[in-house]
Amino acid sequence: MIHNGASTFFWYDNWIGGWAPKDISPDLFNICQTSWITIRQLYLNISNLESFFLEASPDDFISLIQSIPNCSSSEEDTNIWTLDRNHTFSVRSFYKFLVDGGLRTPLYPSFWKVECPSKVTLFCWLANDNKISTLSNLGKKGCNFQNATYTCVMCYKNSETVDHLLIHCDFASRIWAYYLNVLNSHSSPNSLDQVWLSWIPSLDASRRPLWDLLTRAILWNIRLERNRRVFNLTFLPISSVIFKISNMLIDWCSAARDSTQQISSDNLQSVKRSLDFMSVRSADLASSSIFPRLGVTLLTDLS
Ligand SMILES: [Zn+2]
Repeated sequence: MIHNGASTFFWYDNWIGGWAPKDISPDLFNICQTSWITIRQLYLNISNLESFFLEASPDDFISLIQSIPNCSSSEEDTNIWTLDRNHTFSVRSFYKFLVDGGLRTPLYPSFWKVECPSKVTLFCWLANDNKISTLSNLGKKGCNFQNATYTCVMCYKNSETVDHLLIHCDFASRIWAYYLNVLNSHSSPNSLDQVWLSWIPSLDASRRPLWDLLTRAILWNIRLERNRRVFNLTFLPISSVIFKISNMLIDWCSAARDSTQQISSDNLQSVKRSLDFMSVRSADLASSSIFPRLGVTLLTDLS
């Protein structure tokens, strides 16, 4: 934890969310004149950062300045043990880290027992841990040098983070709103790391199994559509993506080997009815002019 910044090296220590700035901003690191510099030294020279770099764009400087914490404290920096909730070292926490390689998840134990394709569950698990390859995550690793923008390809409004792409993006939020309406649910998740930890557990017990499966289908299909736009330079209208999600959900429920998932037939029927409705409207949906209004149109008609 940074206090006076005197014993923390700005570039090399992992002080920004477990990351070292040299890995977050490799371009800026390559042009700095002095790499072995403490956070306190930078803090005391915050009005003269240009002296530490040969050249840098204003944007780079702004993000750099914003990342420097307040170092006015006289207290020394301290190390935090992130493998334990109490932030104190314990042999037990280190042993668990060594055993599972650090690939631990706080998701509830039955996360992997839900009957849907393992590749989908793996994707959801990685997304929950912010480990999928969004443009923002690639940028932190210096891996998106060929595409130097972080802009979301689904809405072109915000940076493509995990939460934005899968929950807050206009495209994603319309899909969430559609199913919230179909299933007569009122709350929606605010962040992906809360979906399985608090949002689904907060739902009515009869709805949880269906929402668990449906959430996986939603995330998976948003990811497929995003990749379609990035790699194939083509796109599906949101109606087609909703169509795929509903069909995927129904297929998974049909293929379930037993009733352990306890999907409420009423809830599943609601999804099927919405699918029938969309089939009837398929001629309209094929028109691109209705695409931007689809979410509102369907929500209005179904209510
Ligand atoms: Zn977006």
